[in-house]
Amino acid sequence: MVAIDIGKLVSAVADTIAAHADELTALDQAIGDGDHGLNMKRGFEAVRGELAAISAKPLPDALKAVGTKLVMTVGGASGPLFGTFFLTLGKELPVDPDRAALVAAFGKAVDAVAARGKSQAGQKTMLDVLYPVAAALASDKSADAIVGVADDAAAATKPMKAIRGRASFLGDRSIGHVDAGARSSAVIVCAIADVLGAR
Ligand code: ADP
Ligand code: MG
Repeated sequence: MVAIDIGKLVSAVADTIAAHADELTALDQAIGDGDHGLNMKRGFEAVRGELAAISAKPLPDALKAVGTKLVMTVGGASGPLFGTFFLTLGKELPVDPDRAALVAAFGKAVDAVAARGKSQAGQKTMLDVLYPVAAALASDKSADAIVGVADDAAAATKPMKAIRGRASFLGDRSIGHVDAGARSSAVIVCAIADVLGAR
């Protein structure tokens, strides 16, 4: 079993988003509208604000509460997508998951983001981090290795041309910048891997 302390996880994610907010904003300024850092910070601080109530719930309900709060507070294109991710994790995970259940639920959550965004890998979005992380999880990689996969996958969005989201309006001019949502996905994955891997 993977004993998951949702309070610890949410705090770690909110901390890392706050620490990276300026970087995420700068990335979104280059090929978007510059709101991504603020959007994410607002959303995860709102989740943190309800941490006591969220932590009191069984894991699936806690994750659904996180997803609902993100949908309500992040805004932009990314709010419903990250919201869908956590809502789906909540729907798919049992109360006391083992690693196989985590792998399966993570995969379903990434597919749900793709369905919601009508997007796929290779379009310079958060999916370009989430899919490689799903594959790394499924291939039994260590927490450290997963952090490396997430960081590398975010960096690998730099030469891509955006096909989805606001950056796609720029066409070829979206090439040469890391995607903001890919980077935020990587920092979230790193925070979660740190918490889960440290036990
Ligand atoms: P907005 O683009 O509305 O300002 P944000 O700046 O908060 O919203 O989020 C932008 C990020 O959302 C992008 O960097 C990208 O990773 C992600 N994104 C946008 N559209 C899609 C989509 N259709 N599918 C997957 N991810 C997307
Ligand atoms: Mg934006």
